[in-house]
Amino acid sequence: AIPRTSTRCFSASARSSAEVNAAVFLEDKAGELVPAAANAVTAAKKLGGKVTGILIGKDEASLEKAIAMSRKLGLDNLLVRHAAALEHALAEPTAPVLAELIKKNGFTHLAGPHSALGKNIFPRVAGLLDVQQISDVMSIQDADTFTRPVYAGNAISTVRSKDAIKLFTARASTWEPAQPTESECSVDVAAAENVGPGASTLAAWISEELVKSERPDLSSAPTVVSGGRGVKSKESFDSTIIPLADVLGAAIGASRAAVDSGYADNSLQVGQTGKVIAPALYIAVGISGAIQHLAGMKDSKTIVAINKDADAPIFQVADVGLVADLFEAVPELVKKIEAA
Ligand code: FAD
Repeated sequence: AIPRTSTRCFSASARSSAEVNAAVFLEDKAGELVPAAANAVTAAKKLGGKVTGILIGKDEASLEKAIAMSRKLGLDNLLVRHAAALEHALAEPTAPVLAELIKKNGFTHLAGPHSALGKNIFPRVAGLLDVQQISDVMSIQDADTFTRPVYAGNAISTVRSKDAIKLFTARASTWEPAQPTESECSVDVAAAENVGPGASTLAAWISEELVKSERPDLSSAPTVVSGGRGVKSKESFDSTIIPLADVLGAAIGASRAAVDSGYADNSLQVGQTGKVIAPALYIAVGISGAIQHLAGMKDSKTIVAINKDADAPIFQVADVGLVADLFEAVPELVKKIEAA
């Protein structure tokens, strides 16, 4: 088992839930809400007060689907702000819009996903408001007190913030997604006020290369098959990990060693510097179980490990362990699942 300690910082008077007026930054991708946005809504609701969603983008038409999805998340209100400069969610023009909305509406909290985008935008909003960001929040004790992992998830820190406005990113894997409701909240759509023509001069969007895949998304898939350095090459990654993922309808993950060796795309990395996930089933193939990898998957409901080394640390967190050569065990497993 992984040791867990707790550290405590500062003290301040707690805010009652009656005073909570929280907002959630609703991240969208290609006009649709990302799954982690619904997890962040749950975190904001845990504060116990009013929760307003904020959607930001190019124009109302491009956000149509995201607006429809957001309205059903059980929010008290939805603010949609748009401007041409906000099209690609660059942090530089987006952060001032969020900061202004917080000031104007008297929001006491801003929550958002602990995603690449959240990690890019939130520190800038914090800087503009002169408050401290609280990252990767796993639980909320009261409106001022949060827990978050430190030391690659080996310790959980309890942080109490004295800031008047709390800005936090929520770890998606520890918050259930907000379930769609029958009733729809009201929507306030308007042009973003503080986005001038020079707003995006600090950074410019050039292009993006999206990995298109029919596979379930790694961050939210219920089953994940991950390969490590033990898989030995890109060719054998493709001929062992992919067939197993295919028969299970699973997403594919990888250790950093596998990514660094070019076996898998870097968007598939699981761990401290990759994605943090908690699927119902995580199958680690040829992965030793370094703490930095465990930091990204140890909260999975059931962990299966296939490794030829019986002393590999991954077996300490595995619910089911198979000491075997993966090149024999995985094809056999695929055949058995296909035959079942
Ligand atoms: P290895 O440790 O080399 O393990 C390969 C395993 O495959 C071994 O256990 C071996 O027994 C087994 N094996 C070999 N051949 C076979 C076979 N034929 N059949 C069955 N089993 C076999 N790592 C991450 O994964 N994610 C991160 O986000 C991450 N972030 C990091 C951040 C920092 C700051 C640092 C310093 C490191 C980070 N790492 C991360 C790297 C981490 O420390 C490990 O180096 C990495 O996880 C090892 O990957 P691996 O288990 O695939 O490789």
